[in-house]
Amino acid sequence: MTPTGRVHNFGAGPGILPLQVIEDCQNALPNLDDSGLGLIEISHRSDTFQKVIDSAMERLRRILSIPDEYTVLFLQGGASLQFYMSALNLLKPGEKVDFLVTGTWSKKAMKEANRIGDASPRWDDSENGFKTIPRNGDYSIREDAKYVHYTSNNTLFGTQYHHIPDSYGKPRVVDASSDITGVKIDVSAHDLIYAGAQKNLGPSGVTVVILSPWAIERAGDNLPTMLDYSVHASKKSLFNTPNTFGIFVLERVFNWIEENGGINGSIARNIAKSNLLYEELDRSDFWKPHAEKESRSVMNVTWRLANEELEEKFLYEAKSRGMEGLKGHRSVGGIRASIYNGCPIESVESLVSFMQDFEKSNY
Ligand SMILES: *Cc1c(COP(=O)(O)O)cnc(C)c1O
Repeated sequence: MTPTGRVHNFGAGPGILPLQVIEDCQNALPNLDDSGLGLIEISHRSDTFQKVIDSAMERLRRILSIPDEYTVLFLQGGASLQFYMSALNLLKPGEKVDFLVTGTWSKKAMKEANRIGDASPRWDDSENGFKTIPRNGDYSIREDAKYVHYTSNNTLFGTQYHHIPDSYGKPRVVDASSDITGVKIDVSAHDLIYAGAQKNLGPSGVTVVILSPWAIERAGDNLPTMLDYSVHASKKSLFNTPNTFGIFVLERVFNWIEENGGINGSIARNIAKSNLLYEELDRSDFWKPHAEKESRSVMNVTWRLANEELEEKFLYEAKSRGMEGLKGHRSVGGIRASIYNGCPIESVESLVSFMQDFEKSNY
C-alpha cells in the first residue's frame, strides 16, 4: 500500500493515472473552472468546455509535435471501433491492406479490415507465441496495398517496436493504444494513429485519433455519418455529444505530462521503470521473461515463473503487499506488470523488492 491508501496498480487497462489528475477531477466535479456547473453536467457547447477541448488538443499537438496540417479527433467506441472505422475510411471495397501481426490486437484489427477489403498478414509471429517484432526486411508489402497497419505496443504479450517499420513507401496506420505519449513517435511518418485512452492517457470511453490530410481525403462520400472521419474533422470532434468527462481527463493528463518534462520526461521515466524490472528478470533464472530482448516493451512487462506452479502464490502475496493487476492475460498466462505513464517508479521499486523476497523464500 502507498501512503495515500491506494495500491500499487499494475493493471493493464483502465490503468493507473497520476494522483494529481484524479484530484483535478475531484475539484472540477461540482464546479468546472468557476462556471458554477459541474464537470459532468456542463454543456459540450459551452465556452467553458470549449476551452477544455481546445486546450487538450493544443497540448497533445505540442507533446507529440503533430504537424499543423494533421487533424486531432477525440472519438468514442474505443480502439476496437477504429479497427473497422479506419478500414472503412481508408479502403474502398476490394482494395488491399497489409498487416504486421504481432499479437491479438493486430489480429482483431485485420479481421475488421477484411470486412471492407483484402487484408493480408505479411508477418505473423503467432506460432512463436508473439515474442518478437519483425525487423525491416523480414516481410514484404504487396505493391498495390493501400496502406500498412501495425500495432506499436502489444499490451498482452509485452512486445514493442523500437523503430518505425518499413512500409515500402505506403502510408502507415498504427494502433498506439498502449504506448502513445510513453515513447517517441514520429507523427509525420504516419497517416493515421489511433489509441483508446484508458492505458496511457485517461479513462475508457474516449479515443484519440490523429489523421493526415491523405487520411481525411480517403473518406468515401456515403459513409455512415458517425463513422466518417471527415464529419468529425469538420465539426472538430463536436458533431455529437463527446465524452466530456474523458476529454477533461485527457486535458489534465496532458497538463501533467507537460509539467513533467513533456514526451522526453515520459520516455526517461518509462525506460527507468522498465530497466529496473528487466534487470531483475535477467538476474535470476527463477524468472522467465516472455519477450525476446530486442522486442521488449517499456509499457507492459511479461514473464513466467520458472516453476509455473508458484505463480498463483506470487500473485496472492503481491496482493497482500498492496500490488494489484499483475495477473498475465489468459492467452499468455504468468505475470504482467503494466507500467504506464501514470505508474510511479516507487511502485516498480516495491515490485522488484517483493520479487527478490519471493525468490529467496521459494527458491
Ligand atoms: C486495449 C487495446 C485495444 C482495445 O481497446 P478498446 O478501447 O477496449 O477497444 C486495442 N489495441 C491495443 C493495442 C490495446 O492495448
